Amino acid sequence: MALCSKCGKREAIVYQKHTGMKLCKNCLFEDVKQRILEQVKKYDMILPEDRILIGISGGKDSYVLLRFLPEIHPSSKLFGLMIEEGIKGYNRAETFSFVKSSCHELGIDCVITSIKEVLKYSVDEFMSLQIKRCNSIKISACTFCGIARRRILNVYARSHGMNKVATGHNLDDEVQTYLINILRGDIMRLIQLHPLSIVHSPLLVKRIKPLRTIYEYETAFIAYMEGFRFQETECPYIVERPTLRTKIRELIKEIERIDPSAQLKFLNEVDKALEPLVKMRNMDSVNLPRCSQCGEPTAPGRNICKFCELIDNVLNIQY
Ligand code: SF4
Ligand code: ZN
Repeated sequence: MALCSKCGKREAIVYQKHTGMKLCKNCLFEDVKQRILEQVKKYDMILPEDRILIGISGGKDSYVLLRFLPEIHPSSKLFGLMIEEGIKGYNRAETFSFVKSSCHELGIDCVITSIKEVLKYSVDEFMSLQIKRCNSIKISACTFCGIARRRILNVYARSHGMNKVATGHNLDDEVQTYLINILRGDIMRLIQLHPLSIVHSPLLVKRIKPLRTIYEYETAFIAYMEGFRFQETECPYIVERPTLRTKIRELIKEIERIDPSAQLKFLNEVDKALEPLVKMRNMDSVNLPRCSQCGEPTAPGRNICKFCELIDNVLNIQY
């Protein structure tokens, strides 16, 4: 096996396709840490006084986030929240206990909760109630699951005095989301995705994505090298994921065969192009309205929030 292209001392264990370098474990970890730091500094993602809630999914990305964040911010100001979706065959007791012990080793307080505990319905229950009442599936499991998890993270962070929510979205996730919204022509959503975008409600906690320039294959490799026992079982609802995302993922794979750094370049260019729009929007004094049912913030012009709408429309009951 060749020696590491960076240090020239240790054995290379991974080929970093976007730089063309073969790296040893130490140099890969250092490179990833520097790229996280670069984003954190560039966009002031983390300030010394920040108290940060880390959304832990139990997948590889959230472990990598847990592994690196304590190196750039005191672990006494980091807190973990793992949310059980309530999906049969997907949520496993051993994942929860492994998350707990990993957080303990890193000196991070961690709490495990569930969508059912906080919002009354697990993902499975929401889906079966939907079928029972509507005889069909109008709202995908992923829509309910995503909105519910975002809601729980936001409310938990706010009520426990945390001013940031960090999630493990990686470069591949970010590029796919940018592309989906470009194809939909959804400029507002694009602006909201940009790391400089500010929140327009005292009830919304700012979300940060420190891994946004780290490739998915890199987080998978690090999780494997660190022996993280991450969730490898595929969610049974994965087939319901928007086909556009699946198609985009395939398309990006094809493009990266020709240009292995295409995703990084794309992210940087879209970030740059959006920046003036984001700064302009940040100056707006819009304060998001509150949902008339649950009191949480909702989009301008809306009377009830997306979550209450899901519950109302499909289950015809009050949340
Ligand atoms: Fe939730 Fe969809 Fe992910 Fe399953 S695939 S955990 S339903 S977001
Ligand atoms: Zn509501």
